[in-house]
Amino acid sequence: MMELRDLYRDVIVDHNRNPRNAGRLDPADHEAHGDNPLCGDQLDITLQMEGDIIRDIRHQGKGCAISTASASLMSEAVKGKSRQEVESLFEQVHAMLTQANGPMPTGLGKLAALAGVREFPARVKCASLCWHTLNAALAGRGRTISTE
Ligand code: ZN
Repeated sequence: MMELRDLYRDVIVDHNRNPRNAGRLDPADHEAHGDNPLCGDQLDITLQMEGDIIRDIRHQGKGCAISTASASLMSEAVKGKSRQEVESLFEQVHAMLTQANGPMPTGLGKLAALAGVREFPARVKCASLCWHTLNAALAGRGRTISTE
């Protein structure tokens, strides 16, 4: 039987090699740039909104496998969701990434593949960069955020 850990690793490898929703939306209603100087990850998020709902999202950047896979997984998870739903999802993902001894998350779908990152504190910012950048874009700040 396939170990859950292997399955998670396969999801991350797959989303790094073949990121979903990669590129830029033009025009975009919102955009933000994220920077994780600890690892060198750079990320641009562009959004098209329909009222309160994320109608479309693209991400583009240069970063490590974790940051690329996380942005890809996030883009699938938040498309079609409202700001409030995204906020609640972010809280769950953040808890998963930072609570090293917390319970394994349920109901996060493929995002749970990133749970292994919490065993490597230096990589947590790689995985959370896209979420911070998305929050900055949704807040309409349209500027560079740094996770440092
Ligand atoms: Zn990284």
